[in-house]
Amino acid sequence: MFHTLLSGVPVFTAYEVITYWGFANGFLGYGFSSSASVGFWIWAVVLILLAPVIHSLHFYFGHRLLHTKLLYSRFHALHHHNVDIGPWSGLSMHPVEHVVYFSTVVVQWLLALHPINALYQIQLAAFLPALSHSGFEKVTMGKNFSLDGGSHFHYLHHKHFECNYGGSLVPLDHLFGTYHDGTVEADAALRERLRARRQALRETRAA
Ligand SMILES: [Zn+2]
Ligand SMILES: [Zn+2]
Repeated sequence: MFHTLLSGVPVFTAYEVITYWGFANGFLGYGFSSSASVGFWIWAVVLILLAPVIHSLHFYFGHRLLHTKLLYSRFHALHHHNVDIGPWSGLSMHPVEHVVYFSTVVVQWLLALHPINALYQIQLAAFLPALSHSGFEKVTMGKNFSLDGGSHFHYLHHKHFECNYGGSLVPLDHLFGTYHDGTVEADAALRERLRARRQALRETRAA
């Protein structure tokens, strides 16, 4: 709660203020303000549909950046202190990580014609972490019906650190070989990847 309210909310608000100021003063939105235009509305709807994909892509690359040697212990380790996660763990981040994480709205600065798209993008970033860190594996309703609660995919990142950097929506972890689905085979593949990395590091140092 401390990191969310004292760092997350001010950083989120600063991005919002810059966004609205930019749109209101014609620096963003390319001056294309005719809400009557059909093309305008089609593009706005396309961007709303694309927003979760933009979120996942941006999250993956920002997160990988935070896992580099230079940034991990300084900034991202704080989020990984959450081993028994709950909704407030989602935005429990270092202020620098908040700046990186909420910069997803910058993508909409480049694409959006209307501030509603930028607002939607940053709202996704603000509220999804509470869901994806809810701590629940399943929500059951009666005997026969259950929904996935939280994000097992991201829980595995909190457990193993070096896998599942992105969201489950885009297959970047599959693509870059960092996918973990919780199976014994995926666990073995992760250990092998880490072993190979340590080995390569040792060889580089020895050379
Ligand atoms: Zn997390
Ligand atoms: Zn991480």
